[in-house]
Amino acid sequence: MVSIRELHDQLVKKERSAVEITQAAIDRIQAIEPQLHSFLCVTAEQAMAQAEAVDAQIAAGEAVGLLAGIPIGIKDNLCTQGIPTTCASKILENFVPPYESTVTQRLKMAGSVMVGKTNLDEFAMGGSTENSAFGRTANPWDLDCVPGGSSGGSAAAVAADECTVALGSDTGGSIRQPASFCGVVGLKPTYGLVSRYGLVAFASSLDQIGPFGRSVEDVAILLEAIAGHDPKDSTSLKVEVPRYTDYLKPIKKSSRKFRIGIIKETFGEGLDSQVGTAVMAAVDQFKKLGAEVQEISCPQFRYGVPTYYIIAPSEASANLARYDGVKYGFRTPQADNLMDMYTRTRAEGFGPEVKRRIMIGTYALSAGYYDAYYLKAQKVRTLIKQDFERAFAQVDVLVCPTAPSTAFKAGDKNNDPLSMYLLDLMTIPVNLAGLPGLSLPCGFDDQGLPIGLQIIGNLLREDLVLQAAYSYEQATEWHQHRPKL
Ligand code: GLN
Repeated sequence: MVSIRELHDQLVKKERSAVEITQAAIDRIQAIEPQLHSFLCVTAEQAMAQAEAVDAQIAAGEAVGLLAGIPIGIKDNLCTQGIPTTCASKILENFVPPYESTVTQRLKMAGSVMVGKTNLDEFAMGGSTENSAFGRTANPWDLDCVPGGSSGGSAAAVAADECTVALGSDTGGSIRQPASFCGVVGLKPTYGLVSRYGLVAFASSLDQIGPFGRSVEDVAILLEAIAGHDPKDSTSLKVEVPRYTDYLKPIKKSSRKFRIGIIKETFGEGLDSQVGTAVMAAVDQFKKLGAEVQEISCPQFRYGVPTYYIIAPSEASANLARYDGVKYGFRTPQADNLMDMYTRTRAEGFGPEVKRRIMIGTYALSAGYYDAYYLKAQKVRTLIKQDFERAFAQVDVLVCPTAPSTAFKAGDKNNDPLSMYLLDLMTIPVNLAGLPGLSLPCGFDDQGLPIGLQIIGNLLREDLVLQAAYSYEQATEWHQHRPKL
């Protein structure tokens, strides 16, 4: 496993060129993509050009940043100028954005090398990457299993070493849950810390972009590069971005006791016992590291999923109204009149899960139901936030499982959307409250599938989340296991 820092050292010591590093990533992608399908599009030519530019800088004696020459995968719901951005949907199959998202622009400026656009559930709606209109992604640990979702392509690509790091988006768990299923680190930042400009909107009050990596340090480095105010996103926070890498130190080095809360409600019914055991072992590890551990109750946690499945589809129904066959991408080839064109375009262009969400959302927002559903959900959202506020008055971070189970077999939940929705039980409340949450490997089940530990922080306390994660990672060896592929 090669980290950003190791690659950077090799580059500046001229042991390896950016072109060689990029070529190795492209070769790896070409060798395993037929089995994995993490990418919807591989941008080998552009990647080589970017790598050459980095090599030229190094040859000219210029200083290059940590991300220069680092191969990176980008979820295909982030707009990349001149490169198709499909959201894994037929309706955007031929969409080539005329502009670049803020995050990818920042990564370009940092010299990183995008190797391709990664697969996802259509419009990021799903938890298995099976809802992609262009075929599913496999889990590198067991090709018959799903990689999680919706950012399953990014998680699988990093786990399988097709790229060093990747970006995903997380509306209800779509970074953390696939990170957990694929045995990598994934972070959903505080709402507003990372600009959403150029991220194709799913549910605007919940969506956040965040990093995937094979180590906490790689994730911290990537976060530092993409975070920070952006005038192009009105919800972007005007805050100073800390040097997250400065917080990668053992928790026992803190001046006072590091306080960790275990969310009691996440250990109830429906939790796979092997996941529960691994997470409790992680808690013991934290105690050994010197943390003070206590149980915390978040009684409203259990309303997260029903609240989310009103709010997210409502916002999605509004956001997806723009795909009407006129402004973007696909238009039905045959229609009798304008209404017929709209209807057929949307019927043919969207997959079943997206249609389901649009219908739920339109219903919840309709006159007469708005108060009963949408307004009620917003009130419950406030109650969930208050649970967290009470918790963070007592502890520095909260821990719980990332997902109730490990990766499941592809096809297993296809006819049961509800059981798929329940996968995000433990991640959704974090989005509803706008908090940062990270998943990192904390063990394996008896099938050899990775288990994820979730660490949740208070608003803008990515520093504490990363510190806890780093301390745990340094004390354990889970992150060193790699899938045999
Ligand atoms: N799995 C959840 C859903 O289907 C979350 C998706 C996401 O975070 N983008 O909506």
